[in-house]
Amino acid sequence: LSEKLQNTFKKLKGKGKLSEKDVKSAMREVKLALLEADVNYKVVKDFTKKVTERTVGHGVLESLTPGQQVIKIVNEELTELMGNTQSKITFSSKPPTVIMLVGLQGAGKTTTGGKLGGQLKKLGKRPVLVACDVYRPAAIKQLQVVGEKLDIPVFSMGDKMSPVNIAKAGIEHAKKYGNDVVIIDTAGRLHIDEKLMNELKDIKTEVTPHEIMLVVDAMTGQDAVNVAKAFDSELGLEGIILTKLDGDTRGGAALSVRAVTGKPIKYIGVGEKLTDLEPFYPDRLASRILGMGDVLSLIEKAQASFDEKKLKNLENKIKTQDFNLEDFLDQLEQMKNMGPLSSILEMMPGMNNKQLKNLNVDEKELVHIEAIIQSMTAEERKNPNIIKGSRRKRIAKGSGTSVQAVNKLLKQFQQTKKMMKQMAGMEKGLKKGGKFK
Ligand code: GDP
Ligand code: MG
Repeated sequence: LSEKLQNTFKKLKGKGKLSEKDVKSAMREVKLALLEADVNYKVVKDFTKKVTERTVGHGVLESLTPGQQVIKIVNEELTELMGNTQSKITFSSKPPTVIMLVGLQGAGKTTTGGKLGGQLKKLGKRPVLVACDVYRPAAIKQLQVVGEKLDIPVFSMGDKMSPVNIAKAGIEHAKKYGNDVVIIDTAGRLHIDEKLMNELKDIKTEVTPHEIMLVVDAMTGQDAVNVAKAFDSELGLEGIILTKLDGDTRGGAALSVRAVTGKPIKYIGVGEKLTDLEPFYPDRLASRILGMGDVLSLIEKAQASFDEKKLKNLENKIKTQDFNLEDFLDQLEQMKNMGPLSSILEMMPGMNNKQLKNLNVDEKELVHIEAIIQSMTAEERKNPNIIKGSRRKRIAKGSGTSVQAVNKLLKQFQQTKKMMKQMAGMEKGLKKGGKFK
């Protein structure tokens, strides 16, 4: 999804002036990309209509940067679509706060219950997990294993009692032992059926949880929307947890689930490990989908002046973090063709001004830098960490500069390397957030 949209926006950006027709055709592409990503049809229609309305006839197309403005509007509307702000769990003023997890079989309730407990524990809460899935073989054992790994207590009464009674007893247990959060793990079915719903309703009536949270598998696309709709109308949800966003999902669920139910996505599951749960930030996901910061124009600029093969090479170095002084020199030389380094870095998201200042290199300095690096031995270039006091003196002498200049260069190099690490991390983060095709 992300890639498709980015292409569309690239086209928009390339234009100095936009006509109504440009916007219409861009919106058609956005529409297709969203539909292909399994976003609900009605959601897509409303979305593109809103963006078009805000764009056409509001002075946007006549502005100096129409392409950017349209992208900004799309970004805002995407964020809006996913709920605008991050929604937290509301803790009861009279503990324990009771959180009931519901959802279909295999959605990730048991795993997510553990993950959630783990996060709340880190926040200083004392959660207890309550095993109310008395149907699935080994479901209780599974929860116990999860609890053990996280060092969180698990309350269970075997599989002979009714889930309603286990839930009630679990809350009593929490009160007695000072657990301020109760997470109820319930049973799921393969499909929504009346028996399941009735059982969940019974638990709801008897224990009145503070939060009923639907756990839903993002990989199921449109089905996720239907499931969310059904659970919400039967039980009334406080929030949604979208799991498996790490897999090869089409991401459409994240966009439509909230739009269709009006209920916030509070967390996303991004892996099988018990730490793979993240609070859901609509603005971050929107930016991710559109391409963060101004990465697009950065890439365009870089591609224009970097030679293709070197760029690939550099990319690999960034990925493996095997970046040495020789590459640094190489890169600086390439940068000469691209204009001031700071103007390039400015476009990167997450760059602060201080970092920029430290990294700025002017032409005159570049001559010195080249001289310094050329005065190093091959080994020193490959492994700058070995450049200590006496080596620094030798290099300064050999290059006709000063030890200070050598120090400065090494510092710049370290900073660049750090920045590259950040970039690589960002790239990983993008992938981790779900592969939006
Ligand atoms: P339940 O039937 O709803 O209780 O689902 P489980 O908690 O047993 O999870 C079903 C499967 O989904 C397990 O293999 C989990 O490890 C896996 N799972 C749960 N959440 C995630 C997630 O966010 N990402 C990935 N990749 N797998 C997940
Ligand atoms: Mg389970």
